[in-house]
Amino acid sequence: MDLLSHDDQGRDDQGHYAQGELVSVLTTQPIDRLLDYRAPEGGCAEGAVVSVPLGPRQVLGVVWGPGEGNYDLSRIRPVTRVLDAAPMRPEMREFLIRAGEYTLTPLSAMLRLATRAPGLSDPPSMQKVYRLGEQEPERMTDARRRVLAVLEEYGGLSFTLKELSEMAGVTSSVVKGLVQHGAVREEQSPRDTPYPRMDTDRGGKPLTDSQAEAAARLSSGYAERRYATTLLRGVTGSGKTEVYLEAVAACLSAGRQALVLLPEIALSEQFLVRVEQRFGAKPVEWHSGVTMTERRRAWKMVGRGEAQLVIGARSALFLPFSDLGLIVVDEEHDTSYKQEDGALYNARDMSVLRASIAGARVVLASATPSLESWANADAGKYDRVDLDARFGAAVLPAMHSIDMRGERMEPGRWISPSLAAAVQGRIARGEQSLLFLNRRGYAPITLCRACGEQIGCEHCDARMVEHRFLKRLVCHQCGESKPMPEACPSCQVEGKLAPIGPGVERMAEEVAGAFPDAKTAVLSSDLFGSARALKQAIADIATGDIDIVIGTQLVAKGHNFPRLTLVGVIDSDLGLQGSDLRAAERTFQLMRQVAGRAGRAETPGEALLQTHQPEHPVIRAILTGDEEAFWAAEADARRAAGMPPYGRLAAVILSATDPQSAFRAGQDLARNAGPLHSVGAQVFGPAAAPIARVRGRHRVRMLVKAERGVALQTAMAKWVGQLRPDRDLRVAVDIDPQSFY
Ligand code: ADP
Ligand code: ZN
Repeated sequence: MDLLSHDDQGRDDQGHYAQGELVSVLTTQPIDRLLDYRAPEGGCAEGAVVSVPLGPRQVLGVVWGPGEGNYDLSRIRPVTRVLDAAPMRPEMREFLIRAGEYTLTPLSAMLRLATRAPGLSDPPSMQKVYRLGEQEPERMTDARRRVLAVLEEYGGLSFTLKELSEMAGVTSSVVKGLVQHGAVREEQSPRDTPYPRMDTDRGGKPLTDSQAEAAARLSSGYAERRYATTLLRGVTGSGKTEVYLEAVAACLSAGRQALVLLPEIALSEQFLVRVEQRFGAKPVEWHSGVTMTERRRAWKMVGRGEAQLVIGARSALFLPFSDLGLIVVDEEHDTSYKQEDGALYNARDMSVLRASIAGARVVLASATPSLESWANADAGKYDRVDLDARFGAAVLPAMHSIDMRGERMEPGRWISPSLAAAVQGRIARGEQSLLFLNRRGYAPITLCRACGEQIGCEHCDARMVEHRFLKRLVCHQCGESKPMPEACPSCQVEGKLAPIGPGVERMAEEVAGAFPDAKTAVLSSDLFGSARALKQAIADIATGDIDIVIGTQLVAKGHNFPRLTLVGVIDSDLGLQGSDLRAAERTFQLMRQVAGRAGRAETPGEALLQTHQPEHPVIRAILTGDEEAFWAAEADARRAAGMPPYGRLAAVILSATDPQSAFRAGQDLARNAGPLHSVGAQVFGPAAAPIARVRGRHRVRMLVKAERGVALQTAMAKWVGQLRPDRDLRVAVDIDPQSFY
């Protein structure tokens, strides 16, 4: 990453503007300049979050600096109100500016990312809170004692009814009873209250020598505000989480805040429990499943330094931390860190940027790091810490391939006799098996046997996928769905539609036939109405008596299934098809990660990979587990081709309802590539995107390739800036693209 061109520290000297003074305000509206206002009654600080009039509306903004004064002074309106929020700190503003410059995202859009909390402009509302009262209750019960003990432990702090009853493990009526006796006081207080303090003195689990050494390397520099990024590589189950929680403790002890980013945050129940055990209080959660009021509270308290630890999805990186000292990016290779919509940023890379500005540390944790991070560690830009053994008795699963060319397969069946025998053995021993297939739905293709038609989406160049549980065909591109038809939409012949290929639902059918007495569960993101239901299903698998789990990549992420001892990969070749730059890397990561689900407790695990090409270098690397060799080979190939991380890529995606206009715009750009040529960059395209139509819009891609170290963004901005905007045409620029669809 070339994010860290200069290494300046955020300034802390925020100015103040007296009433009537001119200030310039950055708003969240898509206007490409700052707007002048007058400071309101009482004045306002630099960085103040304000509400300002814009035409007939009130919009959110931040006081960015002194006014420009180059506008009719008599017409400049005053700031309406300074909102009840901590002023945005200089280092946050610098982060937004530089992240915007890096991703070529307008600053107003960056500010939108940074103010994604509802009701910021609402006046503070009130709620009931509970604190220790003066009276003793007449009668003491265990439950009552627990409530009072919690309140005493936290000194003068107050809690909401829900927090207090949860922490004490009692029903809310116990608390209410204590209120009647005067033992607990009920008060009105602003709704957005500070979060409970984390107790860093509790200590974690006693660490092994290598864990302790790793923890020590991550636990210094917080008070000194020293920037550093460390790649923490360790096989699944080696104790990475245990180790980085020590870093969190060190950071919090230094009085600074910490942020842990997780890829599947809605499913991180097990993780939250661990944090609570370690620090005696719940951390702040930040993801799409968090209620609106809680989001607002989190946003405000993070800004005031009254929330110490945030566990979040990638957007948590844009919270207004008052003093962020540590960012952990768990499963740093995960593709969900790249936002593929709107501002196209990669939260992993932006974490490094934010930390470098804030004088904070970054820990990138993974069992299978991205080639980018591996190369950065190799080049000495990042520090690297390895944990090589699994904790305790758990050992890495033995991995073998099943050569599908030698298996007797019946048509419409995907579980080979060899894999079936292994599963049968696990059932007999009362152990759990996971059958992994990274395909949602019943069948990826629905074919008409009369005319050969494959049913596609009307809005996208994509096949519709049959989802039998829903009895519908679903487009995985745009989400459009329709009832499963009786007759072929093309030739109208009835009863000839046939499913081709497997999805997890179809696997469930095959499993039911092959293992009629086994208890099975299917884990696929679309099968659960809510994150809560999915969490429950995962918990059931971990603790219940499920024999066979059938899952998509959802199961690959960090869950701990102690009884699981066999992982069978239905189609190991799936990810190797296609021309994606990262196909090999992704397959390697996913297969190693899925295999890592097996044998996490005392019983050793085994992973069996069904493949038609056991001699493929990637499959061989997965089986031998020789990661360094795999990365070195992959790095050599990328270096030779000038591909990331040794060269740079940027993509432009043009889309329009009229296919011609998207192409014309692309050809215009191709003809006027001077700004790119002047930095030695090459342009490829325009070409129809692999999925050429999504949601009715035709898509054309262009790819720019440059050497490392050139000012690519400046050149890109100049180049794309030549396009004359028109109503129908949309232009997206993707710096460091991860996907090429
Ligand atoms: P990773 O994050 O590398 O997958 P975890 O930190 O989740 O590994 O550790 C795997 C399991 O081993 C967890 O259940 C964890 O509680 C346990 N564990 C790891 N280190 C220790 C330790 N030093 N003492 C006790 N349990 C440990
Ligand atoms: Zn579609």
